[in-house]
Amino acid sequence: MKRREEVECQICHGTFPAGEALSAEMVRPAVAALIREKHPEWSPAGYICLADLNHFRMEHVEGVLEAERGELSSLDADVMRSLRAIKLATLCALALYPLGCLVRLAASEGTAVGLALDIAGLLLVLAAIGAFAFMAPTNWQRIVGEEEGLLDERELQQRYRAQAFGYSVFAVLTMVTLIYFAIGTDIGNQKGIQVWLPGSFVHWSAFIWGAVLYAFTLPTAYLAWTVPPPPEEE
Ligand SMILES: [Zn+2]
Repeated sequence: MKRREEVECQICHGTFPAGEALSAEMVRPAVAALIREKHPEWSPAGYICLADLNHFRMEHVEGVLEAERGELSSLDADVMRSLRAIKLATLCALALYPLGCLVRLAASEGTAVGLALDIAGLLLVLAAIGAFAFMAPTNWQRIVGEEEGLLDERELQQRYRAQAFGYSVFAVLTMVTLIYFAIGTDIGNQKGIQVWLPGSFVHWSAFIWGAVLYAFTLPTAYLAWTVPPPPEEE
């Protein structure tokens, strides 16, 4: 039998099977920088065993949390906004926008009730946009929108999951809408039954802005509803 390849860990100098150590090149730059502080001889050509790597990863995450806590106490009012408020904001953005559009659509022109409904619908749409503006500068939105280099590994994992979720939901909604348009057009043409279809620039722009709002809000909503809140200050 062929002997499995073994590599030497640069940190503890033990030898490990290739599966229990990682090539130094694969270590994230932020973690590598931390290792180099204590081990100046660190070489990207060598290896590190998983136990040592995990140790430095933990140290890195702790450092990031520490730094975040520092920022928090100074000026980051955004993280102080309670998770509850952000959950509520994502729900408002996602629910009030379509509701406002429907109310405006239902408002008939030329009557007092119609005008009141029209204004109510507009207010709902504005509330949805306000909710979006509220959550935009928060930590959850930062995980979605920030440059990759400025996030730690845990945040990157969260971002990938949030984006995958947002993409799936967005794709399903788009499919359902397109199928509705297709079937609605067909029924309208063949059977003469009135099916509502967007018929003006205002209708179409409501769809376009709704798509923009949903595309940006869905990943944040996922994070707000699934990720535990950042550590509270003692
Ligand atoms: Zn080691």
